[in-house]
Amino acid sequence: MREADPKFKLKVRQIPGAEKLMLCFQCGSCTADCPVARHEDIFRPRIIARLAILGFKELLFSGDLLWLCLGCYSCTEHCPQGVKPTEVIEALRNIAVEEGKLHPGFKQLLDALLATGRMYKITRMKERARAKMGLPPAPEVPLEDVRKVLDLAGLTSILGKASGGGEA
Ligand code: SF4
Ligand code: SF4
Repeated sequence: MREADPKFKLKVRQIPGAEKLMLCFQCGSCTADCPVARHEDIFRPRIIARLAILGFKELLFSGDLLWLCLGCYSCTEHCPQGVKPTEVIEALRNIAVEEGKLHPGFKQLLDALLATGRMYKITRMKERARAKMGLPPAPEVPLEDVRKVLDLAGLTSILGKASGGGEA
């Protein structure tokens, strides 16, 4: 049995956008309108709001749950209570990252960004596709400048702390 942290909701509510978490009355409109919930049985924004209110932080931070959200804002548009589930999920992700629980898939992308200045490699096939469309070759990335910006934004320390919590 995972333990609940009764103070967790207070922490979530302090994050801009997630202030109205406690207004959730579990109507389920967010889940009904969520494109991810239609395809993933484990993903229910209504349940995420409930777990956050009850303080089941470890359940929220384990596995892929928080990281499946597409950020489409459909739930936020339809929530009758103005809870803004999209922002609540973002707030939960931010807390997860602060606690070193960055999802391994996101960590991989950020590692690539730090190493090459791009999240995705520009392969020869992609360059050929660009040429076919009349586009110039992809420009070089000013890697040192990119790294400085990422360092100032705190990415280096986030990656240092990341434990791959999404694999739990
Ligand atoms: S739509 Fe709003 S009030 Fe209804 S369950 Fe979702 S977050 Fe809660
Ligand atoms: S923002 Fe996330 S939780 Fe809300 S409807 Fe879109 S995918 Fe679902």
